[in-house]
Amino acid sequence: MKSLGRNWIFALIFALSPVLVLADLTALIPESTIAVIAEETSGVAAKRTLDTITLYHRTRASSQFRQAAEHVLARLQAYGFEGAEILEYPADGKTMFGTQKSRFAWDVEFAELWELDDDDRRVKRHGSWEALPLSVAQDSVSGNVKTALVDIGEGTSDADYASKDLSGRLVLTSSQPEVVAERAVGELGAAGIISYAPNQKSAWWKEDDRLVRWGHLDGFADTKTFAFMISLGVARQLQARLAAGEEIVFDAQIRAHLREGRYALVSAVIPGVATPGTDPALAAEEIVYSCHLDHPRPGANDNASGCVSILEAARVLQRLITLGTLPPPRRSLRFIWPAEIEGSIIYLSSLDSTAHIKANIHLDMVGGGAVTKSVFRISGGPMSLPTFIADAGHEIGHFVNDQTERYASGEDVPFPLVSVEGSKNPQLALIEDIDLGSDHQVFNEGSFGIPGIYLHDWPDRYIHTNFDQAANIDPTKLKRAAFIAALQGWYLANFDGDDVAPVLALLRANAMARARDLELELPSLSVAEQAAVLSVHWEVERRKVASLEDFASLSGNQKQTADSFIAGLSKLVGIPEVEAAGIAHDNRVYRRNPDIKGPMHAFGYSYLEDHLPADEYAGLNLSGVLAYEALNLVDGKRTVGEIRHWLLAECRAQCRASTGWLEPSDVAAYLAALERIGVVL
Ligand SMILES: [Zn+2]
Repeated sequence: MKSLGRNWIFALIFALSPVLVLADLTALIPESTIAVIAEETSGVAAKRTLDTITLYHRTRASSQFRQAAEHVLARLQAYGFEGAEILEYPADGKTMFGTQKSRFAWDVEFAELWELDDDDRRVKRHGSWEALPLSVAQDSVSGNVKTALVDIGEGTSDADYASKDLSGRLVLTSSQPEVVAERAVGELGAAGIISYAPNQKSAWWKEDDRLVRWGHLDGFADTKTFAFMISLGVARQLQARLAAGEEIVFDAQIRAHLREGRYALVSAVIPGVATPGTDPALAAEEIVYSCHLDHPRPGANDNASGCVSILEAARVLQRLITLGTLPPPRRSLRFIWPAEIEGSIIYLSSLDSTAHIKANIHLDMVGGGAVTKSVFRISGGPMSLPTFIADAGHEIGHFVNDQTERYASGEDVPFPLVSVEGSKNPQLALIEDIDLGSDHQVFNEGSFGIPGIYLHDWPDRYIHTNFDQAANIDPTKLKRAAFIAALQGWYLANFDGDDVAPVLALLRANAMARARDLELELPSLSVAEQAAVLSVHWEVERRKVASLEDFASLSGNQKQTADSFIAGLSKLVGIPEVEAAGIAHDNRVYRRNPDIKGPMHAFGYSYLEDHLPADEYAGLNLSGVLAYEALNLVDGKRTVGEIRHWLLAECRAQCRASTGWLEPSDVAAYLAALERIGVVL
């Protein structure tokens, strides 16, 4: 193929061009299927369940998480999911589930924080478990003190503590309680903590000083203590009074427990049914929907919204199958409601095998209305896991974007996907690749390797605060999220040989769009780096085609045509494929240790940090997406040098903008550290 000239390439592209323009989604999915799912999906039904879930302060393995889980279970049973169940796992502070150490269950009986006057009378309440459970930092233990307040600022430097007597006092800090607990309480004898730490940075993150934000203590730390969370506005008032020399005394009472309990995980399935002429083994394969049911009350967008949207997708598909409007799916559709990240690691690592899970559809924050400033996104996952599922999910996203934008602009369209109690805004979803931050990164992780799509809002100005309320949620967005999820799941559950040709056409079109982006980005790289990035780029395109074989067989002709197309396209972009000369090549090859499953960093626990000496951990320069993907790319075949090329191809310009230049030695050091702790061999 390499000997063929450019004229041949252009001829190939022009010959294929009639099928490159997909008029609409019906090239992939029959309009009748789109119509029945759209008509059945209800944003209002989803919103009603959300209203109930937001009543509960849903920290993992707590009694209120359990109540939320029971409510989801009851809805599933009402929807006809007779086999729906709550799976339980020990929350005991010690059991290892893959890379996640089980955390203790945490429950609070009572907590109040009162300011006292000179006569010991209560004058103002600054914290209350009953009224505002977010005012108690997660993993607080019992305490009962009447004592004065000392401002320690960030509480991270010696200067913050200079000439301050903390003994028996409460400390006021802008840091998360877990950051100062060891020093302020463990070493210097403070009685407890009051924090106004901001988190989840966005353009709005310190603007609204009424917000009380989610606080954390480390349940595994040696020093156990308690902390109350107050708003920035209240903190500023207290600071001003302290700075003026006033003594402020609080009565802090809390009865709370970190103790052995049980994680709960709701699970329901629409079983696959073998049809005549199809492989009966398909019924055992699963498309798994996930969300995360945990989070502080109210937690409406994060993440009651995702949980009720997969519940609505479950209801819709179950209803249509029961009515006979849709046939039973060929593959099974499973729906799970875990605690974020740790619940997904626990679930997947507890299965004998995850080979039967063919795809994951994850929803986290999908209902933010205008007040939240949210931007809805459809993410196709990491480059380490090239998949046509991303392209199909994006196509559904484009379809909803197009229909809803035209509807908002005054056109009559068949699928406006508007809820009667919701907005009429256009969806305008961003179509994107890797975007970390929720349970999908567990499914996508190298030890499980389950591809999928991830629907989510970002930013959200009220995330992890007491203002993440049900009133902010737009039922139209819930309807659209549930629709996209239901349609994508149904499509994948029934995917067979007839679906291959339209997907190959879509992949060709998308390969050209991606080539266009690549062409524009290449000039910022050296020639050697361009060669490295180009070779990875085309390998990803080939693997996207190959990913179809997890779902259906490709004919020899289909494979050859797809190969030829990618080979042809590769000759049009950038420089020809050459050896990546000039880049130091590290030829070590690692393979993943199959006995340690899961990502290195989870919720409330980091396997890497726990197993590596502190100075070595602090010396690692690879973090975030790059660290996550470096491990995912370990496959027993790629060299360390090639893994760096993949990382370079994935982050390209962003590598320079956000994470600093990607040094070969940083990649090598990270993987060598993983080898030392046995994660790779
Ligand atoms: Zn969250």
